[in-house]
Amino acid sequence: MEKQAIFNFQPKKSDALQALYDSNKIKRNNKSKFVLSPSSLNIFRDCPRCFWLQINCDIRRPRGAFPSIASGLDRVIKEYFDAYRAKEILPPLLNGKIEGKLIPHLPPKLYFNDYSKNASLMGMLDECLILPGDIYAPLDYKTRGSFAEDVHPAYQLQMDVYTLLLEKNNHKTNSLAYLLYFVPNTGQLHEGIPFNVKFMEVKTSVERALDIFHKALELLRGQMPKSSPNCEYCNWAKQLKENI
Ligand code: SF4
Repeated sequence: MEKQAIFNFQPKKSDALQALYDSNKIKRNNKSKFVLSPSSLNIFRDCPRCFWLQINCDIRRPRGAFPSIASGLDRVIKEYFDAYRAKEILPPLLNGKIEGKLIPHLPPKLYFNDYSKNASLMGMLDECLILPGDIYAPLDYKTRGSFAEDVHPAYQLQMDVYTLLLEKNNHKTNSLAYLLYFVPNTGQLHEGIPFNVKFMEVKTSVERALDIFHKALELLRGQMPKSSPNCEYCNWAKQLKENI
């Protein structure tokens, strides 16, 4: 941790949500084909029934107002990286942390088409590093309230999928991805909000990504799974059905 960054930000639409919407749009245009993303697979990980309802019926969990702070920060960080991509050097925030360079042209989306299963996996990398030996590695920005020692399972799945997408697009990897955490710090707020920055290496697995992708497809082509007895949303819907 240890470097400090100061950002000012403006709201912007969430890239992750947009990816989810795009994946479902593609699916609705071609009913028999599924296009999944790390976001939708994380819903599968969270609750198979919610995932089944979202992908098969376009019924989504109720959502409150979406905080735009994370997407605003993402935009500022992306602009920072893009400035150094143009100069063909690593941004100073990564100095001394890793050797390599930024990918010269960051693809807006990467796809893996699994024709045997009539399905695709899609992902939008925040950033991609090219390490010595022409090894590619995904890098993702994470803005959080505090640092965590462990990699959140949702981030692990995302990085596994990104590694798979790079490999399926003919980019060699060494099964490693990188997370760049930004956590707000105390300071002279009238000068801007200071952030502490931590760079973390994550071991990834293409096999794990394929396994969850195939399990999710199997579930989608079966009956709707049961709801969790402890879920407040499903219990609320059940009570409505019984009482109104
Ligand atoms: S149990 Fe909760 S999380 Fe699962 S389907 Fe019901 S609402 Fe969704």
